[in-house]
Amino acid sequence: DVRVRFCPSPTGIPHVGMVRTALFNWAEARHTHGTLVFRIEDTDNQRDTEESLNQIIEALRWLGIDWDEGVEVGGPDGPYFQSQRTDIYKDVAQKLLDAGYAYESFSTPEETAARNVANGRPASFGYDGYDRNTTPEQREKYLAEGRKPAIRLRMPDEDITFTDLVRGPITFKAGSTPDYVIVRPNGDALYTLTNPVDDAMMNINVVLRGEDLLSSTPRQVVLYDYLKKLGIAKQTPLFGHMPYVMGEGNKKLSKRDPESNLFLLRDQGFIKEGLLNYLALLGWSISPDNDVFSMQELADNFDIRNVKANPAHFDLNKAIALNAEHIRQLEPQDFLNRSVPYLFRDHVVSADSWDKLTPREQQVLSDSVELVQPRVRLLGEVSGMVGSLLSEEPYIAPEPDAIKQLKDESDDVLAQAADALEGVEEGQWKAQSLHDLLDAELIEKAGYKPRKAYGPVRVAVSGRRVSPPLFESMEILGKDLTVARLRSLRE
Ligand code: GLU
Repeated sequence: DVRVRFCPSPTGIPHVGMVRTALFNWAEARHTHGTLVFRIEDTDNQRDTEESLNQIIEALRWLGIDWDEGVEVGGPDGPYFQSQRTDIYKDVAQKLLDAGYAYESFSTPEETAARNVANGRPASFGYDGYDRNTTPEQREKYLAEGRKPAIRLRMPDEDITFTDLVRGPITFKAGSTPDYVIVRPNGDALYTLTNPVDDAMMNINVVLRGEDLLSSTPRQVVLYDYLKKLGIAKQTPLFGHMPYVMGEGNKKLSKRDPESNLFLLRDQGFIKEGLLNYLALLGWSISPDNDVFSMQELADNFDIRNVKANPAHFDLNKAIALNAEHIRQLEPQDFLNRSVPYLFRDHVVSADSWDKLTPREQQVLSDSVELVQPRVRLLGEVSGMVGSLLSEEPYIAPEPDAIKQLKDESDDVLAQAADALEGVEEGQWKAQSLHDLLDAELIEKAGYKPRKAYGPVRVAVSGRRVSPPLFESMEILGKDLTVARLRSLRE
């Protein structure tokens, strides 16, 4: 029975790397019919925030990454907030001390650095094991001086080897990992202790996390050996380290990059299906010739052993193209429902949900969905497409790049188009007849090149250089508004 976990620290806005970790753990759990535990590692008072916690939960809920035990849902191994487990860590630290697997370390960082220099090593070389054999007398002396000890784990003097699910066998040479601090002098238990202790007590047997944590794994492997001897851990979990995500200029994508910020991506109009699909491709693929898949297909096919170890590349354009694919696959009404909050944000409709729209707004959107849905890549683009159709204004100010479409003869073109369209009977106001009529009047009779004729007409009707198909737009807009716009731009 596979038990995986997602255990973020609530220190910032959810970002691409974090969400990929959540997604791959979710996929591993669902693929194996195992269990996903969601725990919060809030042991850093300085950096943890309630806001970040809420954002992480909101992100998972939005994306549909659900979990089986932990935050909000409970389970047998709670509490699931590390801030509520301090007694547990104290207890385990004491047991490690009592068994001699850990020891009190009174050296200050300055003293350690000075010893390193005296021994011909760089000052920052790391901890040298000096306090391993502190005698009771020395200890009394330190305490009398008012020193408070850190607690360090005793690392064995031998190579540490484990088989990474992504990278295969990995060996850390004996001596490459110093005895490390698990409890600070002020009594705070550190990630180095809390994370493996919780994984042990929550019976986690597969740990999937980012490559940045690979260096902590040899320490944890040793700690697991001790925890097993103390009866606290049943097993050492299998580890899989997912590749770095590289961004622009082949630099590691930073949490602070705007294109890494999950909520900024959502604001642009990524739908969850598109974003999840793209995130899944950061290190994994379903097959060489298929990039488009659903979350269900991900769950059906995911295998951590097929994740590639080399760095993944975050390519925003590719992500947007995938999003467009998923937008096209939505049911039209679903597409509209999801677009409305963006339209409201952009002041294009009167309310933020479909049910609250006016009948006319609903009508225009239903009429135009077939034109718009295949042409947008992000929901944030819908406003520009339908704004002029929803507006009842007789004049639409042209966007700056649309003004270039207007030429010397534009006024004549617009006048002739308006005159011709004015004569159309209401019952004939259909895209195809409008197209035929304007072709006859402007191209054949008046002799304009299509671009010279329809460029200005499009700008008058929509204000934009690129818009949904022109004649369909006119049909939706109706005769009065279409003619009014042709005349108002001319004036
Ligand atoms: N709280 C750690 C982090 O946010 C979790 C690391 C792990 O998965 O072991 O990076």
